[in-house]
Amino acid sequence: MTAISFEFFPPKTDEQRAQLDRTVARLARHRPEFVSCTFGAGGSTLSYTADTVRHLLQRHGLDAAPHLSCVGGSCEEIAALLDQYRALGCRRIVALRGDLPSGMGQPGELRYASDLVAFIRKRHGDHFRIEVAAYPETHPQADDALADLRHFRAKVAAGADSAITQYFYNADAYFHFVDAVRALGVEVPIVPGIMPISNFSQLRRFSAQCGAEIPRWVEKKMQALGDDVEAVREFGADLVAKLCRRLVEGGAPGLHFYTLNLARPTQAVLARLQ
Ligand code: FAD
Repeated sequence: MTAISFEFFPPKTDEQRAQLDRTVARLARHRPEFVSCTFGAGGSTLSYTADTVRHLLQRHGLDAAPHLSCVGGSCEEIAALLDQYRALGCRRIVALRGDLPSGMGQPGELRYASDLVAFIRKRHGDHFRIEVAAYPETHPQADDALADLRHFRAKVAAGADSAITQYFYNADAYFHFVDAVRALGVEVPIVPGIMPISNFSQLRRFSAQCGAEIPRWVEKKMQALGDDVEAVREFGADLVAKLCRRLVEGGAPGLHFYTLNLARPTQAVLARLQ
């Protein structure tokens, strides 16, 4: 089995915390290489991320990596968080620019993820393994696809060790992206981000925001399945498992699952892969 990792978001209520514990306990059986915990831009979930990372490390004994975004934060705040994560025993960081909520706040002192990567390297040398984001279907705000590839290369040149992609359902987009960045001299592993399908209307909303394309035939099939929850789950799990198989057979170095703190959709995919 290829290396896998799981992404969670920080729970805010006792109920959500209990759900995360159940999910982590079930997914931990698949022996992830690491797990990661997202970070809300503008500081809103700042302490939740650190608390969740501590919990994942100490209660579940997992290699837990915080996501850290630089937009809207000062260098002082980011430096304090990095020190906190180091003291907790973290060895891996997912370094991002993040997004400011529309119309709110000022960009921070570090403008792009490449600035954050350079900042982490300057303060902490090689202590952290640094993951960055990659966009096989192009970042939605990029001027164009080639500029986006060059900006990706700049993040790696600043010191990133590895990348995790935005999710996608078209394997060719991933293979094309990998070929394109290799042609630019980028050698780091590029791990596909995998979004299992559970709630299709939620997925459609997310995808519109982050620029991930849902193929027309998938959209049509999901519409036809409508409220038949079981059929949607089965179709979604088959589709995503097929995508994962193709990616791994084509040389993807691992799979990073966006779990949305649910065990079942990810487990349905993993069960089909074993
Ligand atoms: P960057 O790499 O800085 O790129 C952002 C945009 O700026 C791109 O269009 C790029 O082409 C352009 N750009 C980069 N450098 C330059 C330059 N020098 N000059 C001009 N343009 C430039 N968001 C969160 O808020 N919290 C999370 O926890 C989180 N986790 C994520 C995890 C993964 C694996 C992925 C793929 C995304 C995640 N995101 C998260 C979303 C991410 O923050 C957004 O996609 C954000 O818009 C871009 O972040 P980035 O790190 O890719 O930015």
